[in-house]
Amino acid sequence: MTLSLPTTKSNRQVWPGLIEAYRQYLPVTETTPVVTLLEGNTPLIPVPSIAQRIGRQVRVLVKYDGLNPTGSFKDRGMTMAISKAKEAGAKAVICASTGNTSAAAAAYAKRAGMRAFVLIPEGYVALGKLAQALLYGAEVLAIKGNFDRALEIVLEMATSYPVTLVNSVNPYRLEGQKTAAFEVVDALGNAPDWLCIPVGNAGNITAYWMGFCQYHQAGLCDRLPRMMGFQATGASPLITGKPVAHPETLATAIRIGNPANWERAIAVQSASKGQFNAVTDDEILAAYQLLASEEGIFCEPASAASVAGMLKVKDQIPTGATIVCVLTGNGLKDPDTALQHSQNSFKQGIEPTITAVAQTMGF
Ligand SMILES: *Cc1c(COP(=O)(O)O)cnc(C)c1O
Repeated sequence: MTLSLPTTKSNRQVWPGLIEAYRQYLPVTETTPVVTLLEGNTPLIPVPSIAQRIGRQVRVLVKYDGLNPTGSFKDRGMTMAISKAKEAGAKAVICASTGNTSAAAAAYAKRAGMRAFVLIPEGYVALGKLAQALLYGAEVLAIKGNFDRALEIVLEMATSYPVTLVNSVNPYRLEGQKTAAFEVVDALGNAPDWLCIPVGNAGNITAYWMGFCQYHQAGLCDRLPRMMGFQATGASPLITGKPVAHPETLATAIRIGNPANWERAIAVQSASKGQFNAVTDDEILAAYQLLASEEGIFCEPASAASVAGMLKVKDQIPTGATIVCVLTGNGLKDPDTALQHSQNSFKQGIEPTITAVAQTMGF
């Protein structure tokens, strides 16, 4: 008997990017020029130490969307928005951004041969995001105002100048982002009981719900999750019920006082029997540290709001539930916050000898 070896190098399927993978559910045709960095297909990772803190038998997983090509879920929306802009013949795109949208818009626009104009709130964009936008070649305009003001400006600009708006009011953004819900169902075999998600401009919560509903209608899951949205206490208009003029939180990605998708977010909450809750910066930081130090997962502060929120309302979690927390961005985006809030110190100035190193190690 002879051993038969596989004739291909590997039978592992190559991921083609989310537009190709989910083409049948997306508004694209054969003539749409697909602008892709092979985004999507991010891991859904069990987090047993965090699940244990709930004190009952539950399954908790994180959708680690910080592993997208520019380090956040914004790539899902941007592959669609830029492909459709290119199809329509756009030469330039514009967005307001707390950082991640600008990084994604810049990368995909430049790949498509377009100019990318990004308006950011001066002094409130994490270092990694600014570095990315600049290196990708975006035209970065820092305004002396917050995100909400930047969004008002770009909404206006897009109606009077030859620039395509790629914020989440662009419907193609949400179409691309809904694929994250498809991936969650594909991985679990069904929808989770709860979907916990940070909420800023409320595009992502809207997109996830669209995705779950579409899969449900197609018979690919037999239930829908409760959508649990979390905002930072200092920027929680959906919880207080009115816009926040001066939003404040160290989770700069969700430092938004007047979400563009406000009505849709409320509709998602009621249709899914979900909830919006606020989490403090301290609770966000505690979850951020927990994810890194107990689970080995480095997300950005805003992303940790999903886990902080789940832990805050843990008494409501039914026994046996499956919960997915969305980790929207990569921790490497914001090294300043990591260094400032690490409880860990590192030892410096050690003599370069075995003895000195061993002694410092406590041997
Ligand atoms: C954009 C962003 C959010 C907020 O998403 P919305 O769609 O605006 O609600 C949360 N976390 C990170 C890391 C982001 O980049």
